[in-house]
Amino acid sequence: MTSNKQQTLNGYCHCRTVHFQVLVDLTKPLETIKCNCTICAKSRWWEFYVHPEEFTLISGEDQLGLYQFGDLQTSHYFCKRCGVKPYIKGTSGNWGGKFVGINVNCIDEFTQEQLESFTPNISYLNGISNDWNHCPKHFKYL
Ligand SMILES: [Zn+2]
Repeated sequence: MTSNKQQTLNGYCHCRTVHFQVLVDLTKPLETIKCNCTICAKSRWWEFYVHPEEFTLISGEDQLGLYQFGDLQTSHYFCKRCGVKPYIKGTSGNWGGKFVGINVNCIDEFTQEQLESFTPNISYLNGISNDWNHCPKHFKYL
């Protein structure tokens, strides 16, 4: 699943206690996700998925809090110092197994121009209705 087109990007929480690296292929448009489920909406979560082997936690493990709810299938990791959630871990049938969901806004190397270039490829998930394969009727607020 790794390829030589992939480059290493660095991600940080706000206080930079949590530092991680991800391998991403930016020669094609980055597919990002927003969702209207209870936790994504409240945290204004914007993510992209990588395979677990494409993710490396560099530092901050001892300052990571873990939040889970509902069926406990998804692990939400947050920095206990600054409160930012840099990534989540879970399993998705659509994705094809285990994934790490990366907070797009934690990748400091993304320029504002790059961030804007991702927006035409956002997949909006109707998680609030447990309908993960369709764009919700109302999504522009996400
Ligand atoms: Zn922090």
